[in-house]
This record gives sequence, C-alpha cells and structure tokens, in this order.
Amino acid sequence: MKNQFEETLYDAHAQTLNIEEVYFEDKSEHQHIIIFHNSKFGRVMALDGVVQTTEKDEFIYHEMLTHVPILAHGAAENILIIGGGDGGILREALRHTKINNITMVEIDEAVVDMCVKYLPNHSQGAFDNSKLNLVIADGARFVAETKDKFDVIIVDSTDPIGPGEVLFQFEFYKNCKSLLNKDGIIVTQNGVAFMQPDEIKNTQKCFSKIFKDNYFYLASIPTYFGGDMAFGWGTDNAQHRHIDLDTLKARFKDSEIKTKYYNPEIHQGSFAIPQYILELISSSST
Ligand code: SAM
Repeated sequence: MKNQFEETLYDAHAQTLNIEEVYFEDKSEHQHIIIFHNSKFGRVMALDGVVQTTEKDEFIYHEMLTHVPILAHGAAENILIIGGGDGGILREALRHTKINNITMVEIDEAVVDMCVKYLPNHSQGAFDNSKLNLVIADGARFVAETKDKFDVIIVDSTDPIGPGEVLFQFEFYKNCKSLLNKDGIIVTQNGVAFMQPDEIKNTQKCFSKIFKDNYFYLASIPTYFGGDMAFGWGTDNAQHRHIDLDTLKARFKDSEIKTKYYNPEIHQGSFAIPQYILELISSSST
C-alpha cells in the first residue's frame, strides 16, 4: 500500500497524494504540519490535513493574490500580509520595488521555520529582506491593536477552521478596513467557490457592510480541488476594479516582474464571475 496523504477538508470527498518522502511532520503549538514530496506536485505542505501549497502550482495562487491588488492600486508602498507562513506572497510582494515596508503577521513560527528549511523555493530568501517586519502573532489580534496603516492587505490564511477561523469574521475585516490608507485594498483567500460556497457568502455579507466596493476574482489552482478559487476584494475606491488594460500593461511593464501566470489580460479576466457565483454574492449582500 503506497504511503498516501488524504486531505480531510470535506466529508463527502477527499483527494489523495502519494507520499514519496516526508521531510517534516509534527504538531506545532497551533496545528499539525506535514511537508512531503509528491512526484506530480513536488514538495507539498498541509496544515491540519488540508493542502496549503505545492511547489508545482503555488505560482498561480501567489501571483494572483499579490499582483492583482498591487497593480490595481498603482502606488502601494506599505503592505500587510496576514498568514502567508510559506513565504510565497512575501516573495512576490518584494518583487515590486516601489514597496517600502511589508509587515507579515503569521501565527505559527514553526510554519515559517519549516517552510524556509523544506520549501525554500517558496520564500527564496524573502524572510531575510530588510523591508520585512515579521510578527509572530494572531492576525486578528494584530489588526485590533496596531496603529500602522497600509495600502494593501493580503489575507493569505488557512480555511476558517482552527486558527484561521477568526480571519473570516466581521470584526477582523472591520479592523482591517480601519488600517487601510485612502484608496487601500484588501484581498483574501476565500476558498474554492464550488466546494466552499459559504466562505464567499460570509465574506460578501461582511464586506458589503464595510467597503463601498466589494467583489471577488478567480483563479484555478490544481491542488485546491474543485474549480476556481475565489479571492475576496474590498476597497472604497471602486475605480481600482476597473483599471483599463493599457494602464495595467504599463504598470506591469514598469514593474519589470516576470510572471508564470499573471498578466494584465488575466488580471482583468479574473473579475469575470460565472452566474452561480454571482448568485452566491447577490444572495449574501445586505
Ligand atoms: N495558500 C494557502 C491557502 O490558500 O489555504 C494558505 C497558505 S499559508 C501557509 C496559511 C497560513 O495562515 C499558515 O501559515 C497559518 O499558520 C496562518 N494562519 C492561520 N490562522 C492565522 C491567524 N489567526 N493569524 C495569523 N496567521 C494565521
């Protein structure tokens, strides 16, 4: 019998990945962590039985959760990352040279340490960058207490189970809003729409009370099983969601960032939402 990892995110369905080699497995103060090798996806990290990221498809998620808000904003200098312990978002955000400071609030130091050691291609040295202020703390508590302000907030959290649960609550989103500078944008990891519709409905219900413009954008990441992943979008500047293609192209060219997934056309197209998700959103608006 092959050694297999079986994901425990859903009751009625599970994906399994063969384990060729386990690099690390232990329970941290907050969650069970395993990092293993799979012949198809390379090195894989799972937290509390849920696939978080893999070497082969992480670029899609990290490029889309980072470059869409930063290039839409156009003048972001201060970034807040909530979660993101594998360092993929941090790596992508640091590629924007106009960004001066990145605060990253990750609850589990063991995730950072083990990802630096066993998933080095994710952070690629980003945790050593002087622009980073790494805070090991609960993101919900941080946003309730800090006086710092940010242009873009990226919530790269686990699912709303265990330590991640507080990052899907109204209080957390409201506090994030209070930390945004004028024209600031928040984006969130918001689950696979087809498999986790309640995550979209919940975030929509909260965001519609907090932001003048709230929406979702999509990208499909193979190991987040079940179709398009939704990214929550909240801002008081509705223009950010309607940047014309020529402007996006100019900003992308100016950034000199080479990507594997993101491009201005994909950026614009990611906000085109299929009917069943639009109905989820409209059914949850206040
Ligand atoms: N890409 C993944 C996904 O889409 O599910 C997320 C990856 S990242 C590893 C998720 C991170 O969120 C983990 O490192 C976890 O420790 C962190 N996290 C969970 N709850 C948190 C909280 N309340 N405050 C800060 N970080 C938290």
